[in-house]
Amino acid sequence: MKVYKVAYLGSDNEAALALEASLSKAGMPFASAIGDQSGVKKALEFNADIVLWDLDNNPRGKPVPLEQIRKAGLVRQPVAVVASRDNTEGLIQSLAAGAVDFIYKPVKDDLLPRIIAALNVGQKQRRIEWYQRVIEDTNKQLHGILSTLKDPAYVVSPEYQILYMNRAAEEIFGEGLRGGACFHLFYDRADPCEICAKSKGPARWRAVLKNGKSYRFVSALIRNERGEVEKIAVGTDVTPDEEVRKIHKTFISNVSHDLRTPLAAIDQYVNIMMEGLAGELTYEQKQYLSVIKRSSFRLGNIIENLIDANNVLSGHFKLKMQVLTIEEIFSVVMDRLQSQADDKGITLQVQVPDDLPRVYGDKARIAQVIANVAGNSIKFTEQGMVQIRAGFMPRDEGRLIVSVEDTGIGIPKEDLGKIFELFYRVENDNVYVEEGAGLGLAISREIARTHGGTLWAESLEGMGSAFHIALPVHKGQQSTE
Ligand code: ADP
Repeated sequence: MKVYKVAYLGSDNEAALALEASLSKAGMPFASAIGDQSGVKKALEFNADIVLWDLDNNPRGKPVPLEQIRKAGLVRQPVAVVASRDNTEGLIQSLAAGAVDFIYKPVKDDLLPRIIAALNVGQKQRRIEWYQRVIEDTNKQLHGILSTLKDPAYVVSPEYQILYMNRAAEEIFGEGLRGGACFHLFYDRADPCEICAKSKGPARWRAVLKNGKSYRFVSALIRNERGEVEKIAVGTDVTPDEEVRKIHKTFISNVSHDLRTPLAAIDQYVNIMMEGLAGELTYEQKQYLSVIKRSSFRLGNIIENLIDANNVLSGHFKLKMQVLTIEEIFSVVMDRLQSQADDKGITLQVQVPDDLPRVYGDKARIAQVIANVAGNSIKFTEQGMVQIRAGFMPRDEGRLIVSVEDTGIGIPKEDLGKIFELFYRVENDNVYVEEGAGLGLAISREIARTHGGTLWAESLEGMGSAFHIALPVHKGQQSTE
């Protein structure tokens, strides 16, 4: 057993002798000194592991002066108090101030268990203090970082009380709002915002703030040094994006609706001619007409995709949410993907482990994301294989990951970050892929985000690509049971 050194700081000779007698029996080195600065110094020189402070050193009813003892050098030692039975007030106050335990006078014989227990509490106390210091330092650093941000940031309590605002937030909302409710003062609402009220973890939302600008906010939970949970929110000014979005939206909406009408006429007259209603056709004329029909079908698809993209990207679409297994989602798309792969002579491999957790989402929309991503992989792969794998990642509250990997042409590094933008297509002199308008990935990422998930890509040019779709797992559920 480790030998612990015990120091008694007090002037009660009787107590000192009793302590010494009891502790020497247990083989614990003991020293005693008077209860003041010089005594603390002696305890330090003695290298005490625990300090017993006699409450008679203080005015009656007063607690152990722990802060002074710490300041005088005994920073890590647990301090227990020695008190007479009638000094209840001093004793209680000492425990509240951080004393780990107490010993009543007159001191009894068998002190060992009490000392060991006090040392244990002391150790735990030190660990907690250390964690508290780490949290305190981290929070200080965090506030330091937030204060230099040009974007608004604030911290609120679980009761939505504003605890901290950085300069940028004060410039938007005004100063002196601390203590008020964020939903009221920031967003002019009578009740908490739905997103905040619902989410127990990180959240994302968009808001137009009092300065008339649009912001995208992300929030996360942090703990303060007292162990209480707080929510930190940081906004990014997306006003220019929003304006560009609005222009895009109006443009796409006008163009796509304008294109629909003449296209319907083309389709209609091609059908009339193909059916011979406008006179007999030669073989060659029929061939030309079928090319026109195929092209107008493709154009029709692009227009429908454009309208869909417009709805998705402007948030004008409703999700039909339900609890889904990955098998249910795959069943919507796999036949189509398999026949696309067969047409190109590419192997399509699907791996789904048993017992994957379910997700809460819109079956058709999630299937659309998988169809887009895996369809691209087949489209941009000339030989080799496309692998679709599903798995579970226990991050946050748990995520279901669907990964699509191919051995295709890959994506140049400089294009990798842009392929999720609307209309973006990689220019490649060596590869000609006629289909596609650069909409699929932009739509897919938005759908994944609306589900609270993400879509990202990795790629090596000339080697292949991997796309990963992450979707939050249906809450409170880790397996399909
Ligand atoms: P598109 O309709 O053109 O496929 P997407 O938004 O789906 O539009 O994809 C945008 C671009 O990203 C594609 O045109 C292509 O250049 C690139 N891309 C997407 N997936 C892959 C892939 N698996 N391999 C190589 N390039 C890809």
